[in-house]
Amino acid sequence: MCGIVGYIGEEQAAPFLLSGLEKLEYRGYDSAGLCLNDNGELVVKKAKGKLKELKTLTDDGKNLHGTIGIGHTRWATHGEPSDVNAHPHLSTSGRFAVVHNGIIENYLILKEKLTEKGMVFQSNTDTEVIAQLFEYYYQGSLMDTVIKVLSKLDGSYALGVLSRDNPDEIIAVRKESPLIIGLGNGENYIASDIPAILSKTRTIYRLENDEIAVIRRDGVQIYNLDKEPVHKEPEHIEWDVDAAEKGGYEHFMFKEIMEQPKALRDTLHPHIQDGRVVLDEIHLTAEQIRSFRKINILACGSAYHVGVVAKYVFEKVLRIPVEADLASEFRYRDPIVDDKTLTIVISQSGETADTKEAMKEAKRRGSHVIAIVNVLGSAIAKEAHDVIYTLAGPEIAVATTKAYSTQLAVIYLMAIYFGDLLGKISDTEYKCYLRELQMIPDKIQQILDNSEQMQYLASQLFHAGDVFFIGRNIDYALSLEGSLKLKEISYIHSEAYAAGELKHGTISLIENGTLVIALATHEELIGKIVSNIQEVQARGAYVLCLTTEKHQELKSVAQSTVFIPQTCDMMLPSLAVVPLQLFAYYVAALKGCDIDKPRNLAKSVTVE
Ligand code: GLU
Repeated sequence: MCGIVGYIGEEQAAPFLLSGLEKLEYRGYDSAGLCLNDNGELVVKKAKGKLKELKTLTDDGKNLHGTIGIGHTRWATHGEPSDVNAHPHLSTSGRFAVVHNGIIENYLILKEKLTEKGMVFQSNTDTEVIAQLFEYYYQGSLMDTVIKVLSKLDGSYALGVLSRDNPDEIIAVRKESPLIIGLGNGENYIASDIPAILSKTRTIYRLENDEIAVIRRDGVQIYNLDKEPVHKEPEHIEWDVDAAEKGGYEHFMFKEIMEQPKALRDTLHPHIQDGRVVLDEIHLTAEQIRSFRKINILACGSAYHVGVVAKYVFEKVLRIPVEADLASEFRYRDPIVDDKTLTIVISQSGETADTKEAMKEAKRRGSHVIAIVNVLGSAIAKEAHDVIYTLAGPEIAVATTKAYSTQLAVIYLMAIYFGDLLGKISDTEYKCYLRELQMIPDKIQQILDNSEQMQYLASQLFHAGDVFFIGRNIDYALSLEGSLKLKEISYIHSEAYAAGELKHGTISLIENGTLVIALATHEELIGKIVSNIQEVQARGAYVLCLTTEKHQELKSVAQSTVFIPQTCDMMLPSLAVVPLQLFAYYVAALKGCDIDKPRNLAKSVTVE
């Protein structure tokens, strides 16, 4: 989720490190820092905010000396974005400096132990324990120390390490987070992604899990955890710089669609332990939860659509009335909210002005607020009573995909957690929901592995002038997102309609060839939606139907049918949204639209 760059050579390292970080800023953007070995001292400069703050602080790197250094641009997961939490992190005596991408899951236990041993921590990050572990275990052999430190870490990491006593080496290791090594002439580099070093070299090694690279000016050696050398063939990179930043994908949106299984696993993982949902972020007793008479969900855009799914889910599982409200409407309508109302606000950026103001209004009226946000330390995260973070990583494309999916996953976690606390779900249901939830990432992967079908359908249908998305119950909630995705990036007019509502008006717009996308995943209402499909077909519509694998009979009902894997009813939107994202993406691509930056839109809407 962050960017790492390292340089060892004969030139002043800092200007290159900054230019490399610039290429990686899309991976993280809340703070940045550099560490240089300047005549035997590890000198660190860090700055909260965009990279330009660090550039100003260091006069574009000119006032930082040394020909070996590491740099980092951060996307905070542990500890708010601040100067002190920015990387690199130094060990207590300044002997080691570390940059890290990923999450150290057992950092609290390690931190406690190291504090007892006299290590002094400066930051709230998980990363700092790595620097301290290096210092704690170092007895003269850097390689032995690396192996010892790695044996203590649980979680994911890409690391760049500088050691004061080994001034002619950078150590690079990784587990589950990407890291590459660039090979130059008399100089070498490390980076979390290729664009950072493309200005210098196109020859790289890709570091694999549990490999340790020792990078010197005149060469790079790679070892396994048994200290045996690992032989690797260097790879030549043909990509142009722009493509590389998207990890080889043509658009960020497609990359982010593809990242959904990982984003979901990252979000679910910390919240499921020993077969139980753990939501320690929620500071409410069972008694308080029982006292709520209503749940209010406040959000905008796709996050609001998550709220509409949540309405169906919570009402079904918890039997509490739920209102999903557009944040921009909520605060101006004298809402009926008090301390018996639980408010949930949802925002990817955590900075959405409408949502923030609606949240304040709910708080003023005595409501307890739980925020679901993706950006650590954002305004909404700071002001809510409780925060549950989605760990989707930075989302660059304006049209959300992985943030929507991870927000939905949090809703399911909450439904199971509250359902259990309120005694609304049996043990068997609890286990079944949890099992299904944990299988969602793999099932999404299955859908992504068959993306060609959506590409083909898009190629047949991208000339559509108007599109209607119809569905009932939770499929209606999903149709809102499917429709928004299509219209925001392809500029095709589309509407989402509750299927039963069609005949009360909109059916008059159906004519020969009108594209209707019918969502038919909700088991109890398949018969009803089939009738609605027939109603529009009778008026000339072309129907693309999305349903679950077991409803093969719908093949003979609609002109085209897309099947998704089965899961429990309430979680089907997590799967069904993926073909809809792919469809929107491919249609927009065929129309030549600016997919990542659709006209008139912005990523984080900080104005009301
Ligand atoms: N977990 C680390 C932190 O919060 C690294 C985050 C990142 O990958 O940027 O500082």
